[in-house]
Amino acid sequence: MTLHDDRTAVLADRLSVVRHRIEVAAGSKAVPTLIVVTKFHPAADVLRLRTLGVADVGENRAQEAAAKALEVADPELRWHFIGQLQTNKAKSVAAYAQSVHSIDRASLVNALAKAMAVQQQTNGRANLECFIQLDLSEAYPGLADAEVANHSGRGGVAPSDIARLADLIAGTEGLDLAGVMAVAPLGVKPEPAFSLLAEASSALIANHPGATGISAGMSHDLEAAMAVGATHLRVGSDILGPRPPVL
Ligand SMILES: *Cc1c(COP(=O)(O)O)cnc(C)c1O
Repeated sequence: MTLHDDRTAVLADRLSVVRHRIEVAAGSKAVPTLIVVTKFHPAADVLRLRTLGVADVGENRAQEAAAKALEVADPELRWHFIGQLQTNKAKSVAAYAQSVHSIDRASLVNALAKAMAVQQQTNGRANLECFIQLDLSEAYPGLADAEVANHSGRGGVAPSDIARLADLIAGTEGLDLAGVMAVAPLGVKPEPAFSLLAEASSALIANHPGATGISAGMSHDLEAAMAVGATHLRVGSDILGPRPPVL
């Protein structure tokens, strides 16, 4: 593979469009971290993105992510795990990920803590950054829960359950509490979802002043997420193009 091929040129163009959108939306405010979501796309695309200055990539399937991280083998690249995570995959994720954005239960925190203890004894790696995923169905009282879940994928805790999970993460060796994360439902306006997320973030920061992260905003709603102070954007299809049919 040559890195300066047609595909690299396409990625470069789309990436610059997205970066421009982000700059426009930021105005004079700080520009959030752009995580390029490479799920379903090959490791070769991650390498291409590296040549374009991308430092953060996101993946949502444990097996695919582990294989890609091994193939890319770039210690400077930061891998963010953004999908539903089974506890039996915690060990694998702790071996390459700098952060997990989809923490939704105590058992996952405990599994990650165990995996991180082994990692840190072996190689002294930095703490794992943990975002608590928020379930946003409360933002859409008119919609049935099932319908919201259908539009935003499963996972996430109710706002009232964040505090307990946050205390657990903050009190766990090897884990850093980074903030909150959410996926706004498709097909409905994202604003109610993002205001609920912003409220949850303020409540979290009141007890954990360092947990200022807000992971929100995808290809179609990054501007709306930035309007409520998103610090980490997760953008896939507007940069990589449509996802190939499920492998
Ligand atoms: C796929 C995915 C994204 C990226 O979505 P796009 O619409 O392709 O930008 C962001 N966050 C999560 C959790 C995802 O699974």
